[in-house]
Amino acid sequence: MENGKIRVRFAPSPTGLLHVGNARTALYNWLFARRSEGTFILRIEDTDTERSHPRYEKQLMEDLRWLGLDWDEGPIEPGTKGPGKGEFGPYRQSNRLQIYTKYAAKLLAEEKAYRCFCSIEELEAERKALLEKQLPQIYSGRCRHLSAKVLKRNVAAGLPFSIRLKIGEEPLRFQDMVRGPVEFQAEAVSDPILVRSGTEMEPGMPVYNYVVTVDDALMAITHVIRGDDHISNTPKQVAIYEAFGWPVPMFAHLSTILGADRERLSKRHGATSIATFREMGYLPEALVNYLALLGWGAEDGKTETFTLPELIQAFALERVTPSPAIFDFDKLNWLNRHYIKIASPVRLAALAWEYFGGLLPEKDDASDAVLVWFVRVVELFVPSVDHLGQLTAKALFLFGFDPDVARSKPENAEVLAADSARTVLGELANRVRAHSQPVTAEVFKRWMEEIKQATGIKGTELYHPIRIAITGSHSGPDFDKLIPVIEQGATLRVGVPSIRERVERFVGV
Ligand code: GLU
Repeated sequence: MENGKIRVRFAPSPTGLLHVGNARTALYNWLFARRSEGTFILRIEDTDTERSHPRYEKQLMEDLRWLGLDWDEGPIEPGTKGPGKGEFGPYRQSNRLQIYTKYAAKLLAEEKAYRCFCSIEELEAERKALLEKQLPQIYSGRCRHLSAKVLKRNVAAGLPFSIRLKIGEEPLRFQDMVRGPVEFQAEAVSDPILVRSGTEMEPGMPVYNYVVTVDDALMAITHVIRGDDHISNTPKQVAIYEAFGWPVPMFAHLSTILGADRERLSKRHGATSIATFREMGYLPEALVNYLALLGWGAEDGKTETFTLPELIQAFALERVTPSPAIFDFDKLNWLNRHYIKIASPVRLAALAWEYFGGLLPEKDDASDAVLVWFVRVVELFVPSVDHLGQLTAKALFLFGFDPDVARSKPENAEVLAADSARTVLGELANRVRAHSQPVTAEVFKRWMEEIKQATGIKGTELYHPIRIAITGSHSGPDFDKLIPVIEQGATLRVGVPSIRERVERFVGV
């Protein structure tokens, strides 16, 4: 490692989908590394064997890549046992168990840690007794003082033991770049377990606080940036660094993300995982931009749109706020609309195709003409959506609709009940029947003018019934743009009825 080089890590547990909170943690780490030309490391914390699953690891790597957050060191592919990319591997904790055993033995040998033979039942009884006396439920430290003789006998008898760290008297302190200096009294920590119950022959499972510290130290992590749910773990980790004589890194604990009701953000509030936002048709640049603003703001106090390269320039941990961030779906939608507006229609069409499964052929089987037409469809409807997943509902009428259902919608029924509506639709039907060519925007415009002249009906009385007859609804995209898309679609055999077919179906032949 070059001297003074910044090294940060994102250390997710693959026990579920990547949540926006963790994605923000990944982003802030990544931005901090990129800004300082440091190293961004991905470490998979899969020691919880019951809840960890390779499919989540795979998903999380896909999500990070989708967001544009590449890692300099870490596993390359999910599930592979190899050392990964980088000199500090392996980067998956389940492949590092021997390292944890070795370092625990070192602490035992140096008498910085001790074997605790207390059974779960004994500890539980002790905890209950303290609870009844309304005392803090901390371990008594009984096994810390076992005589050499008892210790030897227990080990020889193969009694299972956990390994606990000896906590000193001194307060445990660390520097937090978001919160300033933090201090915990030693009693608040008691003697934490480093390795769960096991024997000399079959060592137990090391616990999170221990493995995370060993890994951060051995991977030469300089800054630990993570969620503030880990603040209460940090003094234990500081005590472990101190026991080994390792330098304590700088910390930055990011505030919790809340919903609008100030409760912790959960599925109850809406989508919370990156995979879900992606499926809904949010653009990665919108999500990254939004996540960056969740607890951080631009120096000028107003700029809100940032691409990833702009974020690298602008981001500063010093401006990350310790107060909780409220997840604002409206703001995310606003940003997504912004990025949709500036995205190339061809890219949007490629992304949107999957939402039209069942309506359109497989993308690989589609002709160039259909692909080009679909770009126009997307261009037509994107101005009215928050995310691409909403396109299908907006564009569904292109593929036909049931005239009876459209008629019976109360807002349409009211429009159609007027005598003027019948007159207008009759006029339109006459023109449609007399016209054998595809209807162009110009022809359609001329018809509107003619009907207006012939009947004296204008404005919404003219347009609403016609729009309902063609689209099933009285609102939608401009006719100028819509008519050609319908007529072009009708020539492509993708199930789009022509203007003529629509009017005839609606009015009745
Ligand atoms: N694996 C931990 C988690 O997913 C992260 C721990 C850390 O960043 O120190 O919460």
